[in-house]
Amino acid sequence: MFFVIRRAAAARRFGAVALAGLCAGSLLTACGSEAGSGSGGGDRLSVVAAFYPLQYAAERVAGDTANVVNLTKPGAEPHDLELSPRAVGTVSQADLVVYLRGLQPAVDSAVNQEAGDHSLDVTGAAKLTLPAPSAGESGHADHGNHVEGGEGADSVASGKDPHFWLDPVRLAAVGDAIADRLAGADPAHAGAFRANAARLRTDLTTLDREFRAGLATCRNHDLVTSHAAFGYLAHRYGLTQFGITGLSPEQEPSPAELSSAATFARKHDVRTIYHETLVSPAVAKTVARETGAGSAVLDPLEGLTSQSAGKDYLAVMRANLAALRKGQDCS
Ligand SMILES: [Zn+2]
Repeated sequence: MFFVIRRAAAARRFGAVALAGLCAGSLLTACGSEAGSGSGGGDRLSVVAAFYPLQYAAERVAGDTANVVNLTKPGAEPHDLELSPRAVGTVSQADLVVYLRGLQPAVDSAVNQEAGDHSLDVTGAAKLTLPAPSAGESGHADHGNHVEGGEGADSVASGKDPHFWLDPVRLAAVGDAIADRLAGADPAHAGAFRANAARLRTDLTTLDREFRAGLATCRNHDLVTSHAAFGYLAHRYGLTQFGITGLSPEQEPSPAELSSAATFARKHDVRTIYHETLVSPAVAKTVARETGAGSAVLDPLEGLTSQSAGKDYLAVMRANLAALRKGQDCS
């Protein structure tokens, strides 16, 4: 069952050290409220989000009526997250844990052991429909791609591509699901949670329109990226993704994978190879050099750091749109 905790109790549970660690980023709601500000009359839910896009959605929906902490530290790769005993404690004590089953095995097992009755797996709301592509496959439905045996670190249990949050429409649905659960946990604030989710949806719908318009007329529709995180984005906006290293961002591509990426880039006259912020750009730059293409940052938003091209999800997505418009030669 859910229970409403008092702020003092929340502070005691998380402890100063955990808060310092968990709040190094932009967790304003969690980190700025110890002095007794806030509007909820002193009782606030505690929400744990497994990685940045879920933190962003949870913070938007919670507003100032709940504390949100992120289990994945800013700048860390969410896929290989390990949890300290203290972090497992926060999972155990939270009112709600928002996560994506299969993406982070450490979170799955902490939820299994500690949070079975107070967790929200967003798999259903996110509507994961795309198969997880392996290295060198273009993630386009027409290409009849298959999933190789053995789940990569980056495919969920169902063998699906987990990166739903790069599609704003899917993230809006997850916001609504979070609002439903928070409303159940704290019925007194149900109206506020639903109104916040509606505002988030409005912002994401605007973003979706900007992407639609911005990518409507591009000379090139083939998107070559180091980490194949952009399947849902590509699918939504009529692009074809080719991932050099497949879904696992840390995996070194083989010479054969590099050469198949270069062949694909030449054949499709690709002028820009994209790399991400949290992982070395070496792979993308190698393929770019081989093919005479340029390289540019496309941020999969798996974490937010001081290197990110914006202060939150919406800002970084707009930077991604600008990079795509330039890289795909859109008018
Ligand atoms: Zn990823």
